[in-house]
Amino acid sequence: MEREKLYGKTLNELIAVTKRIGLPGFAARQIADWLYKKEIDSIDQMSNLSKKTRELLSAEYEYGLTPPDHATVSTDGTKKYLYRVLRDKFIETAYIPDDDRATICVSSQAGCKMGCIFCMTGKQGFQGHLSSNEILNQFRSLPEFANLTNIVYMGMGEPLDNTTEVLKTLDILTGEWGYGWSPTRITVSTIGLINGIREFLEKSRCHLAVSLHSPFDEERRRLMPVQKTNSLETVLDIIRNFDFNSQRRVSFEYILFKGLNDTPQHIRELARILNGIKCRINIIRFHKIPDSEFESPDEETTKRFKEALNAKGILTTIRASRGVDIQAACGLLSTLEQNRKI
Ligand code: SF4
Repeated sequence: MEREKLYGKTLNELIAVTKRIGLPGFAARQIADWLYKKEIDSIDQMSNLSKKTRELLSAEYEYGLTPPDHATVSTDGTKKYLYRVLRDKFIETAYIPDDDRATICVSSQAGCKMGCIFCMTGKQGFQGHLSSNEILNQFRSLPEFANLTNIVYMGMGEPLDNTTEVLKTLDILTGEWGYGWSPTRITVSTIGLINGIREFLEKSRCHLAVSLHSPFDEERRRLMPVQKTNSLETVLDIIRNFDFNSQRRVSFEYILFKGLNDTPQHIRELARILNGIKCRINIIRFHKIPDSEFESPDEETTKRFKEALNAKGILTTIRASRGVDIQAACGLLSTLEQNRKI
């Protein structure tokens, strides 16, 4: 019989587990301690639980960690791990060391249903939501787990299309009974799902990143079909009217496509629509994917675009391209692996 995984359960879920199998209430916190504060990997090692309790737990549950299937290492130190999920699917997790920071980029779904036309994960189609166990396992089973300083939800899938499981992982990462991380070390990136953003802003204190890519309705619809039902205008209204405290940040991701969204009109329109929002724009270079019409502009154009936005008063940075020699575009590596298995 397949046993349920304990790793990835919130404190409330652990309380329900202990109630169900007849353990005292305090056992839930003890189990949370073993899951999220200590580096063990089996119920048997939970040494302050009685043997009887461990047997009761093990009858129905397992600890629940799964190591990565394999890794690819870039010359710049970035690593991409493939994890097996949902039995026979693969997801990607990136480890990005950078001076005194070490960031993990996690996936929240296998494939994606949002269909952004520039995205390799989008081309895979949707294969399933990851559970909180499968999302958090990427973090805990990463060989570099002990070095991690930041976590970004920018891997495969749309995190706010899997809000329930993503919020559980944020609860575990930031709860004092969990990893106790500051929410300012965590950023969740979305293409702009209105209901998901509302729920995320209300139920967590982590940073928000929104993929913008074009300030023009029609162009954005073409790049990102989500614009047809979740308009950027509404997303910006929600953000503008939300009381971000001094700690919480909102940023906008902007993939620059050569000759498409890198013009002076785009700069003017970005400045207009972001007026009054305290934010930052991260310019991302497009990483080429097979059969794509898109190209990345040269460095000079990218720099000029950044400087023009800065001159308009919008703090803008260019995100360094990492892992370009190891299929940097998200979804490429897992597609190759899936095709290889077929
Ligand atoms: S860019 Fe993000 S939301 Fe769009 S298809 Fe790719 S993974 Fe999905």
